[in-house]
Amino acid sequence: MFEPVLTRNIHRPYSEKITTYLEHGGYNAVRKAFAGTPEEIIDMVKRSGLRGRGGAGFPAGTKWGFMPKDQDIPKIVAVNTDEGEPGTFKDREIVERDPHQIIEGVIIAAYAIGAGRAYVYIRGEFFLGVKRWIKAIADAYEHGFLGKNILGSGMNLDMSVHRGAGAYICGEETAMLESLEGKRGNPRLKPPYPAQVGLFGLPTLVHNIETLACIPHIIERGPEWFAGIGTEESKGPKIFSVSGHVNRPGNYELPLGISLREIIDEHAGGVRDGKRLKAVIPGGASTPILPANRVDVPMAFETLNAAGSQLGTGAVIVMDETTCMVEIARRLAKFFAHESCGRCTPCRIGSVRLYELLDRIEHGKGKPGDIETILETANGIDGLTFCPMGAALANPARSAIEHFREEFEFHIEHKGCLVKAVYSS
Ligand code: SF4
Repeated sequence: MFEPVLTRNIHRPYSEKITTYLEHGGYNAVRKAFAGTPEEIIDMVKRSGLRGRGGAGFPAGTKWGFMPKDQDIPKIVAVNTDEGEPGTFKDREIVERDPHQIIEGVIIAAYAIGAGRAYVYIRGEFFLGVKRWIKAIADAYEHGFLGKNILGSGMNLDMSVHRGAGAYICGEETAMLESLEGKRGNPRLKPPYPAQVGLFGLPTLVHNIETLACIPHIIERGPEWFAGIGTEESKGPKIFSVSGHVNRPGNYELPLGISLREIIDEHAGGVRDGKRLKAVIPGGASTPILPANRVDVPMAFETLNAAGSQLGTGAVIVMDETTCMVEIARRLAKFFAHESCGRCTPCRIGSVRLYELLDRIEHGKGKPGDIETILETANGIDGLTFCPMGAALANPARSAIEHFREEFEFHIEHKGCLVKAVYSS
């Protein structure tokens, strides 16, 4: 029986309060971490197999190991609460309902890499999240978990909150750093990576909320416990945000490697109104769409790649048989065209061209050859852009055509929707 740990507190009354957190063993992991050396903590995180939960899946311990060891170089932890991937709402729930779990993860990370400063970057629209962050940080200071000489360890750590202005691209780590510095949130060219040159030119460890939430549990329960959950290349618990045409949308903490079908049918209550499943976006809007016949895939980095998609943020968007895939591709193209930061031409121009093509097909004005132009445009964006948004915006249209090409052809030939024709008859 799988026991949730990351979400274990969120349904308790006043779960956001430090008193509730302390009552349930909160901040014990910090004490335990202080009993070990920073090298031992980094080694524990490496052995746990934790991979970043923000989408890229980079091994967390390896990232910590990249930070310079020189004590004289100031270092920073940057906390990414800019959760903007459509379909993803897990980080917001942890911040709003259990912020001390993240602060505890930040303290341990800062101790391990020798950082004295932590900055939280949060999406500006998360009003409650901002409030909860500010209160939690103030309470952590008051209880001696932040500030000077934390718990008598000699470690100093200051932490503050900064609000973004709701740009999708500021979830990309280097764009977030630019925004934190008060500049326009454009991604930086890598290398250098943030571990070498990050915020204000200093080595910076950037982590997503869910990744940081895993840290206290790895220290408390041991890396072997964490590595014992999941698959060969994808370890630990994972929060899956399930939305769309299901009976019980919501966040579900489950072991990595669970099948997509089990998440939909057993945890999210199955497809709504007894309808048939048509397609799923398994990892947030930027990951390729999977048709219903692939939902037995285990939800892990390696297995989803093999199935033609990605784990991404683990945001599962479920679509039933009444969904028009042309419209899905059109809406997602509109989102990415709007969110392109405009820095590189394939993304700036290509995203708009993709949207225009899909929009005209959807509205009965498609022409023969449009499908080929869409594929050519998508292929001309992916891999040729400054940041991963190029691949992200190419994925929805390309995968929708790959699996549901007949719907695009019908729209062009009949100037109308195949799905509507079937379900309105
Ligand atoms: Fe900006 Fe798009 Fe280029 Fe990324 S790929 S830098 S979002 S224009």
